[in-house]
Amino acid sequence: MARARIIPLFVPHLGCPNGCVFCDQKRITGSPSPVSGADVAAALERVRARGETGAELAFYGGSFTAVSRALQLELLEAAGPYLADGTVSAIRLSTRPDAVDEDTLAMLREHGVRTVELGAQSMSDAVLAASGRGHTAADTVRAAGLVKKAGLRLILQMMTGLPGADRDTDRDTACKLIALAPYGARIYPTVIVKGTVLEDMWRAGTYREHTVADAVAVCADILPLFEQAGIKVIRLGLNPTAELSAGGAAAGAYHPALGELVRSEIMLRRAAALLAGIPAGSFVTLGVAPERVSAMTGQHRANIAALTRRFDLGGVRIRPVDAAGDTVVLVDAGPGF
Ligand code: SF4
Repeated sequence: MARARIIPLFVPHLGCPNGCVFCDQKRITGSPSPVSGADVAAALERVRARGETGAELAFYGGSFTAVSRALQLELLEAAGPYLADGTVSAIRLSTRPDAVDEDTLAMLREHGVRTVELGAQSMSDAVLAASGRGHTAADTVRAAGLVKKAGLRLILQMMTGLPGADRDTDRDTACKLIALAPYGARIYPTVIVKGTVLEDMWRAGTYREHTVADAVAVCADILPLFEQAGIKVIRLGLNPTAELSAGGAAAGAYHPALGELVRSEIMLRRAAALLAGIPAGSFVTLGVAPERVSAMTGQHRANIAALTRRFDLGGVRIRPVDAAGDTVVLVDAGPGF
């Protein structure tokens, strides 16, 4: 089934009571001004004018339920006529775990919201505190339960490499989020955005940068955990924007193809496990699903080079085979191809 087209509208930071150290919503979303009901109507009018139906309206970028009830209603009611005529089939939004309650969720549902994304970020209270999140892991557990009880689809967002986090706490966060059985998840390795408190912490030496390599390592640990639990990771890494690429990302795990790097690392680990104990000088043929050939090969053939070096191989080649997901099979190994 084709996925509904998403019409994203950003609610940048508006009404957010908080000061997460990594956050500069204006810069991250590339949208400096708050959204109004008129903006919602204008965006949906363009969709209607194209004759499209069944789109999903998404309020992203801030904490939807932390804005005033009046503004929430203004935005949702502006979408009402487009829900009624089928231009829009559903609404999704993101918010903070401590900004949802039963009453609000019932109101959202009544107005056509079908999916709620909670910014859990970490399940370590120490990491949440060091990151200025202003909520606890218990808030996330409670909010996740309420979202599901309200009959809404739950998406959980986590971050890796926050202040005070390490590979173990990030892995633990992933396991605890998986235990909440969300419909899907997003993983955002920490990026140091210019002008944030996190940038000051990094420059002062009180925060160690979560590099692209760090993010690839930890995400290659946790992505398979979500997938093995049947939870789709719908996004890995911040969406690249012109501003972040042009220096808005001062440091940290900003890479336009982070998801591909992580998939490559997962494939590399699987291949390495298969080749343990192989005689030096062997010529190896690995088989993967056709859509994984490029991930197995790695950017600039990095995985081929890594395997050749690590196992002192004569050569490595990759072949498409009838395999599922990230499975790697040893098709052949011998003294030559
Ligand atoms: S909750 Fe944190 S990340 Fe979200 S908008 Fe507020 S300050 Fe930014």
